[in-house]
Amino acid sequence: MHLVSLIYASKITDKIHEDGVVDIVQKARISNEKLDVTGLLCFDNSFFLQCLEGSREAVNKLYAKISSDPRHANAILLQYEEISKRQFAKWGMGLALPTKSNSVSFLKYSRRAQFNPFEMSGESAKQLLLALAKKSEIQ
Ligand code: FAD
Repeated sequence: MHLVSLIYASKITDKIHEDGVVDIVQKARISNEKLDVTGLLCFDNSFFLQCLEGSREAVNKLYAKISSDPRHANAILLQYEEISKRQFAKWGMGLALPTKSNSVSFLKYSRRAQFNPFEMSGESAKQLLLALAKKSEIQ
């Protein structure tokens, strides 16, 4: 099996309220478990940054579905690579919300006054997600 990791950024639309993100993640965990997909979703009230990891087939199919979801827009692929081991194996889908501590990381890796994953390199996006995963503030 080819194990892959995919990272994309997108922007929330008016189709959901911010509270809807928790609902998306709760459903995603059930569905991802069946697909053996793991990952981390980072949300800062405007933007999403998500890593999906799993088999090449499962990750590609899931990304195609997610990227056409009207609850977010302008999904842009930041990084796609084959991996030898999962980085987010603990989570069917972890959720990093803009807590005080997480927001410090968002800004650190953005190198901007405001978090904007559309301006990040794939590598910075990956490093941010890995830094968030080390914290205890993942839901
Ligand atoms: P359905 O729930 O029947 O969805 C049918 C269609 O309606 C889909 O196109 C869906 O995008 C859309 N839709 C569903 N609910 C709503 C709603 N409340 N308002 C507007 N449109 C809606 N799913 C996962 O399985 N795993 C993930 O890791 C994952 N991550 C996501 C990250 C983000 C940022 C977003 C926005 C969505 C994510 N989703 C994830 C949800 C995913 O896009 C699909 O909604 C979900 O997989 C169920 O799709 P479905 O076609 O099986 O079923």
